Amino acid sequence: MIDLRSDTVTKPSAEMRAAMMSAPVGDDVYGDDPTANSLEERVAALFGFESGLFTATGSLANQLAIRQLVKPGEELITETFSHIVRAELGAGAAFSGITTRTWESPRGVLRAADPLRIARPDSGPYQVSTTAIAVENTHNFGGGTVQSIAEIKELRDQSLKMGLTMHLDGARIWNAHIASGVSFLEYGKYFDTVSVCLSKGLGAPVGSVMLSNKERVASARIWRKRYGGGMRQIGMLAAAGHYALDNNIERLSTDHEHARLLASSVSAVAPTVVNPAEVDTNIVILDLAGASISAAELNGELKSAGILASTVNPTILRLVTHLDVSAADIAKVNSVLPELVERAFKAK
Ligand SMILES: *Cc1c(COP(=O)(O)O)cnc(C)c1O
Repeated sequence: MIDLRSDTVTKPSAEMRAAMMSAPVGDDVYGDDPTANSLEERVAALFGFESGLFTATGSLANQLAIRQLVKPGEELITETFSHIVRAELGAGAAFSGITTRTWESPRGVLRAADPLRIARPDSGPYQVSTTAIAVENTHNFGGGTVQSIAEIKELRDQSLKMGLTMHLDGARIWNAHIASGVSFLEYGKYFDTVSVCLSKGLGAPVGSVMLSNKERVASARIWRKRYGGGMRQIGMLAAAGHYALDNNIERLSTDHEHARLLASSVSAVAPTVVNPAEVDTNIVILDLAGASISAAELNGELKSAGILASTVNPTILRLVTHLDVSAADIAKVNSVLPELVERAFKAK
């Protein structure tokens, strides 16, 4: 099977496993795990932050971050299809009493004017007050969209004047960096908290890191334990993160190239389904609006051909390239997928 459901399906390589096996470890709840500590320091320094906190998942990193910025009954605003409001199962409300409001943007593209239009800080005793803005980069459900650094900067400048804080959901910030050439330090500069995933395109089996100043990270460490997320000899997992940072960032450009190849071959037969110019990174969104079959049906046909994709909604199919997908795999998908898509439109 060629698995294009997500970049989370990658399996640790032999070299990564060797690094995990030989990692020095200690009890991380006591702060004794040298590999976890050095990973936290490394990622914090990479983005220009004082401190970092290793977490089991990106959702946990996001949730620990936003609860540092938004008090119960206050508001976090974000894009309608962002992971924080679509894929974390209401965690902000369930765990932290955070209320959310959203703006919608095609492909999840950030335009500073959108959040600024709905932000309502200091709303007084009758309306909810906005205290933070979350930005997703790259935007997952938007199709791996890379956000403009100029828009991020503009949003930071304007929202600071309003007394608002900003969180970056940077699960795939690695992909954004490779696609845009913008440095990690530059991306980090405009945010109060950041979350990054090591377990997506970077290929680690587990792990995310939450970044902020010392006080917020110390508080997040307490909340991580309270949520049951304090782990012991996690140096074995952190070592996979170190290995991923050493070896798997630059190669993301290959995944991006593969995604563009998929998009180009589909658009050649069905231009309304995907625009290759809009495939910024490793995620290809196929829009089957107007086709005679649903996304689930196309997914079934692909599965019969040995290809796994994911159905986002009845008309949207998502393909994600990653380090376990070779150029030969992409060629195989391109020998099957365009024909199936073309047929889905002709059969009408
Ligand atoms: C994957 C992802 C996360 C974190 O997901 P987990 O499965 O909890 O690790 C957060 N944000 C975005 C945009 C993601 O794609």
